[in-house]
Amino acid sequence: MIAPFLDEEGREVVPERHLQYDTLVIAIGSTANDFGTPGAQEHCLFLDSLKQARRFHNLMLNAFLRTNHEAHQGHSHQLNISIIGAGATGVELAAELRLASRELPVYGMNHLQASDVSITVIEAAERILPALPERLSVAATRELERQNVLVLTGQPVSEIRKNSLLMKDGTELPSEMTIWAAGIKAPPFLAQLDGLEANRTNQLVVQQTLQTTLDANIFAFGDCASCPQPNSDHPVPPRAQAAHQQADALFKTLRNRLQGKEPVAFVYNDHGSLINFSRYTTVGNLMGNLSGRSMYIEGKVARLFYASLYRMHQVALHGFLRTGVIWLMDKISRAMHPRLKMH
Ligand SMILES: Cc1cc2nc3c(=O)[nH]c(=O)nc-3n(C[C@H](O)[C@H](O)[C@H](O)COP(=O)(O)OP(=O)(O)OC[C@H]3O[C@@H](n4cnc5c(N)ncnc54)[C@H](O)[C@@H]3O)c2cc1C
Repeated sequence: MIAPFLDEEGREVVPERHLQYDTLVIAIGSTANDFGTPGAQEHCLFLDSLKQARRFHNLMLNAFLRTNHEAHQGHSHQLNISIIGAGATGVELAAELRLASRELPVYGMNHLQASDVSITVIEAAERILPALPERLSVAATRELERQNVLVLTGQPVSEIRKNSLLMKDGTELPSEMTIWAAGIKAPPFLAQLDGLEANRTNQLVVQQTLQTTLDANIFAFGDCASCPQPNSDHPVPPRAQAAHQQADALFKTLRNRLQGKEPVAFVYNDHGSLINFSRYTTVGNLMGNLSGRSMYIEGKVARLFYASLYRMHQVALHGFLRTGVIWLMDKISRAMHPRLKMH
């Protein structure tokens, strides 16, 4: 069933409708998982959609303006920003925020020093980037500390309040802006679909063929699916590269299906991970396809891989020619527009 499409004033543009199917693919992604933490929905900012990202951007600029004004008036001024969850998203966001706080004088906010903006990354696990190799997490911690970002590990947050956070050990941290970047869950309605198996985070449980366990005509992949990996207790991780590879496998399966052939068993191939620290640096590991060993990279080489990954994604979506045009437009836009968007 497809929900009605409404315009911005809530008027119905296209009514609710039903579609028949013989083969169904579900690929509706995920949203942040706040694990039911008290106060998270009321006081945290989430980054699941463009709308939420724009809201975060506006609130961040307002917080910078307010704190700069307070500094100008000679009042005590300190802006505390906390990021809950030190996966790739949380770590990269901390670096971007640090760069933004350093660029404020360029935009006339001369009374606010970068040191007046306190950025804290909080992770429940014993190290940041817990899903990635330890060497990456050591390098990332070193880089964040170099950028004056406070890194707290082994510290679960138990409650979010209006202007503070309560840690499990009872410590209260001031936080005027709190961003939730810890974990994902699939949309809740998936767990209520009749005749399909879902796990605790609402993901549809699928076989290696990406067919749902209870209905072979329904496929699911990407963040909304829990897919087993051979020789591993862990399902395929919710990452862009996994979703991309699954899309390729599913394409072959659907083509086979039309020809009455068997579905393809999906095997995840981890190509490595790259963490970008804004303009400062990039760190990462690349997996050797044949040896299966990972190679640590850092600095300009890692940055080059990071930039080319983004372009490869665009090539997959738009083809070479359009990606070339987008690349050129990005270059022009970077030369014409300020780095920190002020509205
Ligand atoms: C801020 C952020 C940064 C990230 N950075 C990285 C990164 O650097 N590297 C990496 O590997 N991964 C990253 N990820 C994770 C990555 O985005 C996901 O793993 C990937 O997008 C999953 O692909 P998907 O196709 O399953 O879901 P999505 O890309 O989320 O696509 C799902 C689509 O379905 C639509 N949809 C949702 N519900 C419905 C519905 N009921 N009906 C119809 N359509 C619906 C959504 O609007 C969306 O367009 C990041 C995620 C976030 C939030």
